[in-house]
Amino acid sequence: MDIKRLHGTMDLLPEAAARWTEFERRIRKVMLQFGFGEIRVPIMEPTELFAKGTGESTDIVQKEMYTFEDRGGRSITLRPEGTPSVVRAFLEHSLGAQRPSWKLYYIGPMFRAERPQQGRYRQFHQFGAEFLGTDAPHADVELIALAYATLTELGLREMRLLINSIGSPDARRAHDVELRKYLRDDTNWKRLCADCHRRTESNPLRVFDCKVEQCIDVVAGAPTIDGFLTDDDRAHFHDVQTGLKSIGLPYEVDVRMVRGLDYYTRTTFEIKAEGIGSQDSLCGGGRYDLLVETLDGPPTPAVGFASGIERILSTLEANGIELAEPPMLDVFVCALGAAAIERLPQILNRLRALGFTADGDFLGRGLKAQMKDANRRNARVAILIGDNEIERGQYTLRRMDDSQQTEIPADTDQWTAETFRT
Ligand code: ATP
Ligand code: MG
Repeated sequence: MDIKRLHGTMDLLPEAAARWTEFERRIRKVMLQFGFGEIRVPIMEPTELFAKGTGESTDIVQKEMYTFEDRGGRSITLRPEGTPSVVRAFLEHSLGAQRPSWKLYYIGPMFRAERPQQGRYRQFHQFGAEFLGTDAPHADVELIALAYATLTELGLREMRLLINSIGSPDARRAHDVELRKYLRDDTNWKRLCADCHRRTESNPLRVFDCKVEQCIDVVAGAPTIDGFLTDDDRAHFHDVQTGLKSIGLPYEVDVRMVRGLDYYTRTTFEIKAEGIGSQDSLCGGGRYDLLVETLDGPPTPAVGFASGIERILSTLEANGIELAEPPMLDVFVCALGAAAIERLPQILNRLRALGFTADGDFLGRGLKAQMKDANRRNARVAILIGDNEIERGQYTLRRMDDSQQTEIPADTDQWTAETFRT
């Protein structure tokens, strides 16, 4: 067949899928520990949600969205990130009226039309958390601690936590003026890429996020936001750092780290992996005190993060960290001959009723091929059934690790769990 999967998407075959299942189990465990409840929101949303929420000046909205018109002429977008949907659901179900604060998390696919490469896909997966309804610096600490704990639970050790404050709108306005002046300076302007020319107009802070070498050079000399923070911004950032120290989380302040989203205010943070190349950002987050209002909700400060599952998995792999044990099978039934195969469904049924994971060979192959399969499947014991065994009324039970054999009755009614504890 000529039909192949789309560029930038992937299939998860059973072994990989088992790793993902274990990954998700650990994420859910930590989310529960921190008191976060799961929210499942649609994968497609009205385009407007991201245009307004994620922000018109972001790369995501400018050039990375999968947007199409549906049959009713509505503009639909495959979600490029989770936060706008969570906020939409928060407002749509008036959650804020039920409780003052909410801790929500999600796991699922996101879609961005990027150039596929190692660590960068078009359908990728994130887990993320949102803490809505509080502007307390301790909420930022709680969220950062949560992001860190999920990565620790997955087995990661070498991580760098970078934090910054990009301030409140007042600070940003003052900074924007100076930053624009700097960027429009002739020598700087000539070196900036076309995207950064656009960013200088729409949202100059975005220039800090540019990945083009020349722009990074220009930005190295640009006025940074830290000199423009208001007293309140400074106090907030100070308290966040005190909180991180109080729980022993090592961090670095990086005044150039602004993250790629329009809605951030004050705290932004990022967790990077050590030594996995340029796609090393595992997790990004920050405070978004104005997003709920931007989406026409009541004033509701909030803070959140999102982590990239594929990037974390490849970091784990690069560090030789295994997530899932290879699956074990309690019993493999080798059925040799037509009479044995005929008994297979009933035998498997009985084994499963006794609580075992059980499988058998339905193909009528030779003993050697079947034993090879039992080994490959990591079976603990095998039951061997041939015409001989059927005649004798006794099956052969073989321990896979040392090939020790015993006999068990063919009458499955006589079987108990003990029968197979060799
Ligand atoms: P980057 O600067 O690497 O493009 P970003 O700023 O776009 O990241 P966010 O939107 O904050 O990232 O998303 C959070 C996390 O999701 C990232 O840290 C990364 O781990 C992951 N991620 C983002 N885009 C992709 C992608 N196209 N493929 C795989 N993972 C991604
Ligand atoms: Mg990006």
